[in-house]
Amino acid sequence: MAEDESLTDSSSDPNPNPCPICLAPVTQDSYLDRCFHKFCYNCIIRWIDVVASKQSCASSSLKCPMCKTENFSIIYGYDGTSFQQHYVGKSLGNSEFFSGAHRYRLKCYYTEPGDLADKLHVSRHWKCRKYLQQNHFLLDWLRREIQALMQEEDVDIIVHHILGVIESLRSDWLNNSRISTEMVQNEFRVSVSEAVRPFLTGRTERFVNELELFLASGLNIDAFDRVYIKHLGWKVDEISENDDEEPLEHIPVVSCLYFLDEDSDGN
Ligand SMILES: [Zn+2]
Ligand SMILES: [Zn+2]
Repeated sequence: MAEDESLTDSSSDPNPNPCPICLAPVTQDSYLDRCFHKFCYNCIIRWIDVVASKQSCASSSLKCPMCKTENFSIIYGYDGTSFQQHYVGKSLGNSEFFSGAHRYRLKCYYTEPGDLADKLHVSRHWKCRKYLQQNHFLLDWLRREIQALMQEEDVDIIVHHILGVIESLRSDWLNNSRISTEMVQNEFRVSVSEAVRPFLTGRTERFVNELELFLASGLNIDAFDRVYIKHLGWKVDEISENDDEEPLEHIPVVSCLYFLDEDSDGN
């Protein structure tokens, strides 16, 4: 019904956020995937070409012309539920490890989760001290999440780092029953954010929210995906297009490996 409302409604402020490359109003909003800086689609595509022409070998990432963050793709054509993605250099989006499930998770990061936190009982997770229980699906969930966000296959170092941070927090909390719910939740958010910010930059806060959702849900990966997708009104088969013979749920075999003792000799 509304036709091109977004294009016409700019009466009061003539040009609030021009494209940093052409300095004109942005045409066809396009975002770099990690720092979220916005450009015209044509401008940033041309920028990639210019940078590539000055390099001796093809690169799969692009330094943002604004903030110098390394980005891997351009997000464009976002219409509220879906978007297009242009990968810098080689097409990582078609790499073997990057499954339909990775694509779906990446898509979630560009979508408002609405009241999913209530639906998955995030506050109860903290109030009822459910965080003291170990989540056996966390390793696999983290791996998929970080792979999707960084568009890199080998993310084990980061995943183990996050697990180590979470387990050492849990061990502290187990030994300190008088710590308040607010302090626990805050400690969790601050510590995990610090651990992932060097890798996830602009997506750190959303990642921590997603991690809270997953932990609070108490669900395995497959069930979590189903609840999530249903909540967003997406189709379930969209996520398994490329790997339909392989179920999304993987039961990890590392249950106790990352549980650190108080006097663990961290590194
Ligand atoms: Zn432009
Ligand atoms: Zn940037």
